[in-house]
Amino acid sequence: MSKAQYTVLVTDKVSGGALDALTSDDRFEVVQINDSKDPSFAEALKTANGLIVRSATKVKAPMLDGAPELRVVGRAGVGVDNIDLVAATARGVAVLNAPAGNTVSTAELTMALILAMVRGVAEADASVRSGEWARSRFKGAELRGRTLGLIGAGRIGGTVARRCKAFGMDVIAYDPYLTDERASEMGAERAALDDVIAKADIISLHVPLTDETKGLISKDSLARMKKGSYVVNVSRGGVVDEPALAEALTSGHLAGAALDVYENEPLEADSPLRQAPNLILTPHLGASTSEAQELVASEIAEAVRAALADGDLTRALNAPAIGGETLRKLGPLLELASGLGKMACAMAPGGIQAMEVRYAGGSDEALKPVTAYVLMGLLKRVLGEEQVNFVSAGHLAEQRGIQVARTQLSRRSDYAEYVELVIKAERGDLRIAGALLGEGHPRIVRIDDYYVDIVPTGSLVVLKNKDVPGVIGRVGTILGEQKINIAGYHQARLSKGGDALAAISVDGDVDSSVREALLELPEVSAAVVVRLA
Ligand code: NAD
Repeated sequence: MSKAQYTVLVTDKVSGGALDALTSDDRFEVVQINDSKDPSFAEALKTANGLIVRSATKVKAPMLDGAPELRVVGRAGVGVDNIDLVAATARGVAVLNAPAGNTVSTAELTMALILAMVRGVAEADASVRSGEWARSRFKGAELRGRTLGLIGAGRIGGTVARRCKAFGMDVIAYDPYLTDERASEMGAERAALDDVIAKADIISLHVPLTDETKGLISKDSLARMKKGSYVVNVSRGGVVDEPALAEALTSGHLAGAALDVYENEPLEADSPLRQAPNLILTPHLGASTSEAQELVASEIAEAVRAALADGDLTRALNAPAIGGETLRKLGPLLELASGLGKMACAMAPGGIQAMEVRYAGGSDEALKPVTAYVLMGLLKRVLGEEQVNFVSAGHLAEQRGIQVARTQLSRRSDYAEYVELVIKAERGDLRIAGALLGEGHPRIVRIDDYYVDIVPTGSLVVLKNKDVPGVIGRVGTILGEQKINIAGYHQARLSKGGDALAAISVDGDVDSSVREALLELPEVSAAVVVRLA
């Protein structure tokens, strides 16, 4: 009889040889059934404590209902579209992924595409096959001495940067969380987004798909790129506006592009991309190497082992960890904390290095969850909605070099509950505070030295402006022209006629063109938009 305490069911042809973390531990029994439609799979699921899948098996509510002992689902890879996170959370099943094992394979595909793009490899191949010998048509460009513009410089972006340096390229990078130290380690120079767009010969995208990055390479940003430059996207579909890219290639403004990911996958038969010239299309091959498959399998095996044997859920994508009564009681406070975290991310001058979360209020147990929700709000803007949760937030902040401190303040007489963030960022400090008034009504009450009183709804627009007559009217006109409804407008100033701050809460979304229009007002020196709900 097996003395194993845990059974882990492995499917989708996850590389069995890479499951050492489980197979070499006596406490685990590994059952491999590659076809999840096979009746033996459903049978094994009845007693499985862990399940490891790739993307083929759909882990949805009916499957989870047939797995009463299941505690952990591990995805050997990054994307968890095939797993119903809500259904898993509701059944107390943690969902883990393996984000790091794909890094080198994806970076190498990026290099393959960059080289193929600047030398016209795919088209030259097609031309020779068709019987041509058109050498003069394929005059390419060298990478040496050209500028690579990275947008997103995490695991994959950093790996691409080092490889491009080896080709003699200059590398500039935009990533709000890139510190000078990490930039120099990867041989890149930090730059503002606008500069990367305007100066790069090749733009390579390595960001998650978030509210911020959706449509980042738009018609407007393509127009601001150098004539004859290139774009490569091996990150996520949706970051590039596909019809606008097709147009920029057709007009000849861009010399070429390469895409591995698409807004809708598989790519539609009638997509304008299929007809666009000088464009290389690959079917989401970033992680498709045997090495990456092995690495993600061993990464997820270790994560599943740690989750089941040690209760380590720091890599879980769901796991709310607070529920029931506590959540009901703390709900409005945690929502406020998450909103302050989002504001911190949007408003901090440069990457955040340290943050102190201060709390004053009625609950002795609130400080820890409040801190976790602040970090969740902050990191969701950076990592994407699904990649961070209550349990993993602290660990992920630490990984990004953010020092977090918590302070319990004595109760205040003016607010029932009060949360303040004191932030040290690369180019300066930021202080923001929010409070709950009676019955849990949230307010943003302080931004730096300005005292404000604004209900956080929809989106928040924060402007720094000169305290002169007429500004409020002009701002209102710009928002009104875009049919943006103002829910609250609070203007605060430190002294008459000096600097002022406006916190404007509006219903719905505010797109980047509105922010740009606000910045064109001569009185406005800074404008930040944060989507809170
Ligand atoms: P990562 O989390 O290590 O890096 C992402 C970086 O993007 C972070 O440093 C983050 O600070 C930065 N970022 C977030 N928002 C930004 C913004 N608005 N502007 C600029 N930078 C921003 O992730 P990674 O492992 O390097 O993966 C990068 C992307 O590649 C992800 O979207 C991932 O899903 C994708 N990916 C694709 C494939 C493929 O098969 N094509 C394989 C693996 C990963």
